[in-house]
Amino acid sequence: MNTDVFAAHESNVRRYGRSFPTVFKRALGATIWGEDGNPYIDFLVGSGALNYGHNNPNIVEPAIEYLLGENILLSLDMYTVAKREFIEVFVDSILKPRGLSYKIQFPGPTGTNANEAALALARKYTGRSSIMAFTNAFHGMSLGSLAVSGSASTKELGGVARHDVTRVPYDGYPTPAFDSASYIDHVLSDAGSGIDKPAAIILETIQAEGGMNTASAAWLIEIQRICHRHGVVLIVDDIQAGAGRTGEFFSFEFAKINPDIVCLSKSLSGSGSPFSIVLIRPDLDIWNPGEHSGTFRGNNLAFVTARAMCKMWSDGQFTTGVERTTARLQRHVDSLVAKFPWCIEQKRGRGLMAGLKCRSQAVVSRVRHVAFENGLLIESSGPNRDVIKVLPPITITDDELDHGIAILDHALKEQANGY
Ligand SMILES: *Cc1c(COP(=O)(O)O)cnc(C)c1O
Repeated sequence: MNTDVFAAHESNVRRYGRSFPTVFKRALGATIWGEDGNPYIDFLVGSGALNYGHNNPNIVEPAIEYLLGENILLSLDMYTVAKREFIEVFVDSILKPRGLSYKIQFPGPTGTNANEAALALARKYTGRSSIMAFTNAFHGMSLGSLAVSGSASTKELGGVARHDVTRVPYDGYPTPAFDSASYIDHVLSDAGSGIDKPAAIILETIQAEGGMNTASAAWLIEIQRICHRHGVVLIVDDIQAGAGRTGEFFSFEFAKINPDIVCLSKSLSGSGSPFSIVLIRPDLDIWNPGEHSGTFRGNNLAFVTARAMCKMWSDGQFTTGVERTTARLQRHVDSLVAKFPWCIEQKRGRGLMAGLKCRSQAVVSRVRHVAFENGLLIESSGPNRDVIKVLPPITITDDELDHGIAILDHALKEQANGY
């Protein structure tokens, strides 16, 4: 396998290429092949950006047709047919059936672009500057998003202090017994707390990069109530947990909350094409025309593939399949937890977004290595990188899922032999 060109010319910053030292060439569904022809089951899926698998024919075929038709590819924020059709399907297949009503902002194409827009809008709307953000949060790599992120290494990257950010404990932090929602309510109500009333509270319902920490429905409902009570904008960063990852389209549906702003990206295009949107409670949409901008707000190929993805959610066979796969993955994960208590401390995550909190980073890094050797791509997360992220495509076949889990099982068993 020739990887010389990467070592010679690509920046030292490269990471996944080191974790998975092969050169990938082809992919379909949940399987990705190296140029040597070796197949791997993909439980990494572009860190949640390929929830619908690689080259999903329902999604890629309309894109091929679109590309061949001399259609618009880039349009800033002009009106195009592809954008109109995306909006229509997004409203009809996603928002309306869930009783949701939002204006849609198209920022730049990455997740962090969406978060920056959301934070800017909340600050403009409230006239306040501070943002409340959680321990172990991850919101992206631009300065505003870095500021609200929790991890130490992420902070150092910004090279700046976290201005205008108040860090508060996430659900279950530092211990399951601590009632973080009451604490937040208290500091916002107490004039002596020394904590400024924020423009917004920004949260992930599952902190994927932060270690698959999972908020309960009760906690989310309570945070929403606190936001209403104190006139604070609730922003849900659904960039990784949304677009189907938990088995429902939005990760907060199970809690029946109605956030003021929702940010989507990663799997939103359905195809891996860069795309993000900010969903805004209509009365909060106080942007002036052109006040917030970005060159790549009009990635029409992403409009086409995102439309195809959203249409799938109106298909009962598709949603039933996702439910079945969710239950199957959860059964597998429960059995791994029961089988390898000396490796795995706790199950984390929800739906098709599963996490295995392990006893050490060393275990996780060996599991990842053995899994790769045996044909499975899997990654770790958390401040100590001791959580295995299990993110199969939500469209994975039973055979591929069982096969991927069998490889993971084997890799965990190897660790048992090492002790
Ligand atoms: C990946 C991610 C982001 C950042 O998205 P980019 O496209 O990398 O800028 C923000 N929030 C969450 C929860 C993410 O998982």
